[in-house]
Amino acid sequence: MPDFAPLLRDVFGFDAFRPGQEEIVDAVTAGRNVLAIMPTGGGKSLCFQLPALARDGVTVVISPLIALMRDQVRALQEAGVEAGALTSGNTPEETEAVWQALDEGRLKLLYMAPERLASGSAMAMLRRINVSLIAVDEAHCVSQWGHDFRPDYLRIGELRQALDVPLAAFTATADAETRLEIVEKLFDGEPPQTFLRGFDRPNIHLAFAAKDSPRRQILDFAAARRGRSGIVYCGTRAKTEALAQALREDRHPACHYHGGMEAEDRRSVEARFAREDGLIVVATVAFGMGIDKPDIRWVAHADLPKSIEAYYQEIGRAGRDGAPAETLTLFGPDDIRLRRTQIDEGLAPPERRAADHARLNSLLGLAEALDCRRQTLLAYFGEESEPCGKCDLCDSPADVFDGTTPVRMALSAILRTEEWFGSGHLIDILLGQDTEKIRARRHDQLPTYGVGKEYSKSQWQAIFRQMMGRDLVRPDPERHGALRMTEAAAPILRGEDSVRLRRDTIRSAARRPAVKA
Ligand code: ADP
Ligand code: ZN
Repeated sequence: MPDFAPLLRDVFGFDAFRPGQEEIVDAVTAGRNVLAIMPTGGGKSLCFQLPALARDGVTVVISPLIALMRDQVRALQEAGVEAGALTSGNTPEETEAVWQALDEGRLKLLYMAPERLASGSAMAMLRRINVSLIAVDEAHCVSQWGHDFRPDYLRIGELRQALDVPLAAFTATADAETRLEIVEKLFDGEPPQTFLRGFDRPNIHLAFAAKDSPRRQILDFAAARRGRSGIVYCGTRAKTEALAQALREDRHPACHYHGGMEAEDRRSVEARFAREDGLIVVATVAFGMGIDKPDIRWVAHADLPKSIEAYYQEIGRAGRDGAPAETLTLFGPDDIRLRRTQIDEGLAPPERRAADHARLNSLLGLAEALDCRRQTLLAYFGEESEPCGKCDLCDSPADVFDGTTPVRMALSAILRTEEWFGSGHLIDILLGQDTEKIRARRHDQLPTYGVGKEYSKSQWQAIFRQMMGRDLVRPDPERHGALRMTEAAAPILRGEDSVRLRRDTIRSAARRPAVKA
């Protein structure tokens, strides 16, 4: 298999696969017939876009949703991918450009509405060009009994036979009857490789904790699991070495692992980890690809991962054998600052940075979730679920309070300064601080000046963090990360909605760590 990481990063701007994507991408790239059932929002389009780039020739994408096709084509083109669409919404110029790109053999992805398959000229064209894959979005539209039935979808099976190329079908509709019908109509009854996996990993216990004394927290977690294999992920190389040392002093077998080590040393850690029972590897994210030890019993994050996808992938290394496994993810204000700086100082274009900030916010939302952690996580991937009974918040509910008043104060400070400032300055306003910036901008004249003295600075930081995690405010990269209000905040400001905040993470954030890990 090719290494997809560079394409994933450079073309799509993602740092990790989402649950299930990698297996599907592998199978489609290898040219197998595939039926993939994934919840809406799970990330289906990547599962044919990435193989399209990795394979020779053109991938024909059949989708019934014209607006969605146009969005995808635009996004691909912006990322430098040769993609085009033939739909009834095209201008003659657009159609001409697609034909030309096809003639010149440049096009990688050709999106088509199913109606096009009814036209003889389109069929003739598809026979003439080098089609290497057919991808079918919303494959359940082939089902005559479903309410989304599209008669033209029945032509796709003929197309596959005529071209004799692999076909990958995607849908969010999982019921067995629909699946059977898809196999019959699209694959002529020949069962494709089928991927139907929820995102849940029910044997993995989930937990987060605010950093208090992070080294102590990790040592305690490891001590309670003495003799069991585990991974500790750290944000920096230096930290992997220091923490491995601390674990050894605590009489654990432990090694560090990071990308700066000689290949040979890395190999030897990998081999030891595979062979030995109870070894702890303290690593950066460089440790992961290629380790397939089924009985990793725990994974801890000494620092917050960079996105919810990275989090899922890293904790997912635990308990592959299906036996119980445990996880703990630490987070603190320094992590958030570090992650934000990494995004802002990266080379990505502004829209991608905004998306990265949003993904980080989702992880913060998970870190400070109010109810079942797993429900929150699965909801992010588009899957509905019941409270799990296997996470820290199901074990003991979060300590929450009605935070409507401080949130409204913060929103009002944001609006009165016209959404041009970051949390540092906003907090100074709320606390009524006497800074040069406040005097220069006459922000001491604002009605919000000094209204928030009831909370400390670090408590305010925690409140802003939770507001970001709930997507009530968002940093705007075009304004140097100034916070702007989102739609979701409007009803709160109008007094039509209330907000619950977590008290525990505000409290421990106020008690800043004395010991640094
Ligand atoms: P679906 O078609 O399954 O409903 P999409 O393909 O439109 O879902 O993807 C849903 C969202 O998930 C999009 O915003 C997309 O950018 C995002 N996404 C997909 N794959 C990844 C990934 N590996 N990492 C981060 N975000 C992803
Ligand atoms: Zn739960």
